[in-house]
Amino acid sequence: MSAKLLEGGPIADVIKSEVQAAVAELPEEQRPCLVAVMAGDNPGAQAYARMQRKACEEVGIVYELKELDEAITEADLIGEINRLNRDEAVDGIILQMPVPDHINARAVQAAIDPVKDVDGVNPANLGAVVMGRAGGAPCTAQAVVRLVEETGVDLYGAEVVVVGHSEIVGKPVALLLLDKFATTTVCHIGTSDAGMLEQHTTGADILIVAVGVAGLIKGNMIKPGATVIDVGINRIKDEEGKSKMVGDVEFESASEVAGIITPVPGGVGPVTTAMLLQSTLHAAQLQR
Ligand code: NDP
Repeated sequence: MSAKLLEGGPIADVIKSEVQAAVAELPEEQRPCLVAVMAGDNPGAQAYARMQRKACEEVGIVYELKELDEAITEADLIGEINRLNRDEAVDGIILQMPVPDHINARAVQAAIDPVKDVDGVNPANLGAVVMGRAGGAPCTAQAVVRLVEETGVDLYGAEVVVVGHSEIVGKPVALLLLDKFATTTVCHIGTSDAGMLEQHTTGADILIVAVGVAGLIKGNMIKPGATVIDVGINRIKDEEGKSKMVGDVEFESASEVAGIITPVPGGVGPVTTAMLLQSTLHAAQLQR
């Protein structure tokens, strides 16, 4: 491996200790409060909730998981969000994904009060990202930008390629980096289907991959010396049939070519969780 490993843990620790110090200054009754709303019992959402709780407890943020029945109607779920919107003790609200099939996640996300929307999923906050307000962006997008900035790379005029155009990662990441005067290209399934993905990725000084396809990006698709941020989380079976977590970038071949690369796990994930804490603190500060 020739690439330098860009680990998320130490960056997350810095963010967490900043949040912890700010929370410690507040009187006990004013500690920020984050409520996660989970409809149904998805194992992935449960695992993420456990991680959120642990992180909140570490920094002194109050965490509550609202577990709702899988069969809840969309109207009742929105009603629950509205109750939390009105509750002055609640500073931040996050909707755990995925929601059951009969629920339109976008409608529920749009119901979250933009001030309490700590994961930047309300259209008003995504709109604010278009206007250059990074604070309202989804936590994962903020985490990607933080990781890129930690490398010290000059974004002005840099060729950035983002693979994946979801509302939670690809699009906001592209907009945030565009705002820093990077020359930003967004690739997606259409780019792959047109056989053009490699042509774009090999031109990237900074390559950000958020797709959900294990090993989509291989070493020969990376410009030598590039910075590679792998957002993907995929579960695959190893040679012994055991489940393991990998990213969207084929780490072995990519790390021979890239200059800097994030690992999976241990790259974007911990910084995303730390950003959630930071967003909750900011939401509390805005509301008090
Ligand atoms: P989505 O499924 O919402 O979006 C995936 C994107 O990839 C879509 O834009 C899709 O295009 C595009 N895509 C799919 N296949 C290809 C392909 N073969 N070539 C190019 N583009 C393709 O996923 P998310 O954005 O929510 O998440 C992406 C990954 O990041 C997942 O693995 C997820 O688990 C992970 N993730 C990690 C987080 C972290 O903290 N580390 C947080 C959030 C997500 P189209 O829609 O047009 O098909």
